[in-house]
Amino acid sequence: MFIARTVAELRQHLAHADKPAFVPTMGNLHQGHASLLRQAKPLGDALVASIFVNRLQFLPHEDFDSYPRTFDNDCALLEALGCDVLFAPLEAELYPQPQTFKVLPDPVLANILEGEFRPGFFTGVCTVVMKLFSCVFNGSAGVALFGQKDYQQQLIIRHMVRQFALPIEIVTCPTTRAPDGLALSSRNMYLSPAERAQAVQLSAALKNLAAHVRDRTASGLDLNLPALEIAAMDQLRSLGWQPDYLTVRHRLDMSPLSAVTDAPLVVLGAAKLGQTRLIDNLELETIASLRSQ
Ligand code: AMP
Repeated sequence: MFIARTVAELRQHLAHADKPAFVPTMGNLHQGHASLLRQAKPLGDALVASIFVNRLQFLPHEDFDSYPRTFDNDCALLEALGCDVLFAPLEAELYPQPQTFKVLPDPVLANILEGEFRPGFFTGVCTVVMKLFSCVFNGSAGVALFGQKDYQQQLIIRHMVRQFALPIEIVTCPTTRAPDGLALSSRNMYLSPAERAQAVQLSAALKNLAAHVRDRTASGLDLNLPALEIAAMDQLRSLGWQPDYLTVRHRLDMSPLSAVTDAPLVVLGAAKLGQTRLIDNLELETIASLRSQ
C-alpha cells in the first residue's frame, strides 16, 4: 500500500487509474470501515482510502482534539484489506490556508436532524468531501462509498454529487453492528464499560419505534407519530440517555410525514449517553405497504 502524504503524490500515484474506488474516513478504523473497503475493492481498478480528521466538521466544544488517532493499526487493517493507496494528508496539506471557500449544502437537508444539533456540520463534511474527491478523482470518473450509519451524510453527498454533476457514483453500504446490535463507531470507545453494556438501547429504541408504527398501521389505528416519537424519547430518557431526536422520516429527503404516505421511510435517532453522542437509523417499509399487510 502506498501512503500519499501530499496531493501531488496521490495524483501521481493514481495517474493511471481509470476508475478509483474511494472510501473516505477519519481513521480509528473498525469493521464498519472494513466492510466499506471490502465492498469497494471490486468496484474500481484502484482501492483508495483516506484518513483525515476534518477540523471543519467539529464545533468548538466537540471532540476534535481527543478524536482517536490510531494510524499504525489503521494502516495494518488497510493493508490486509488490499487497499492500494492511503491518502493521509497533514492538516497543512489539505488546508494550507484557512478554508474560506466552502460547499454550502441545501439547508432543507442540512439544517435538520444532525444539522440542527451540530450547526455547520454538513458544510464541513461537504467541503472536505468535495476537496477529497478533487484530490482523488482529479475530475475523472470513479466510485465513492459511504455508510448508511451516517444516513443524512450519505444522502447530502448524493445530492451534492448530482447538483455539481460530478462523475462519481455514490454507493451506500449497510451498517455494521456489534453482536448485541450497537452500530460500530469510532466514538464507541468513549463509552465506559457500563455505558457500553447499555449502548444497544439506542438501536433498540429505533426498532421499538418502528414496531409501534407497524402495529398501529396494521391495526388501522391513527398513527399519531408525534406522540410515538415523544414516548420513544421519554423511554430513552428514563434509561439515563439525553436524546436529541428519534423520528420517522421519508427516506428520500428526510422530510416529516404529514399523511399516509407511499414513500419509503427511515427511523433516525441521536442521543447522548454520558458524554458520548451516538447516532443510528433503520429503514422501515412504506405506510401504504404496512396498511395492506
Ligand atoms: P468516519 O471515519 O466515522 O468518518 O466514517 C467513515 C465512513 O465509514 C463513513 O461513510 C461512515 O458512514 C462509515 N461507517 C462508520 N461506521 C460504520 C458502520 N458501523 N457501518 C458501516 N459504515 C460505517
